Amino acid sequence: MSTCGKCKSSDLVQIELTPVGRSVRFSTCRACEHRWWTTADGDVALELRDVLDLVAAA
Ligand SMILES: [Zn+2]
Repeated sequence: MSTCGKCKSSDLVQIELTPVGRSVRFSTCRACEHRWWTTADGDVALELRDVLDLVAAA
């Protein structure tokens, strides 16, 4: 179960997107509204610019 890196809440909204055959996951914390991107398995944090690079490469 993923938790917010900021407030540790597990009350998250998670959306998976596949811009270029590689899934990424956008997560939003409902408790503090922190937002972040990870790979689809949730293991690797992505910077927004990494996500934009993936989209731009499509
Ligand atoms: Zn939070």
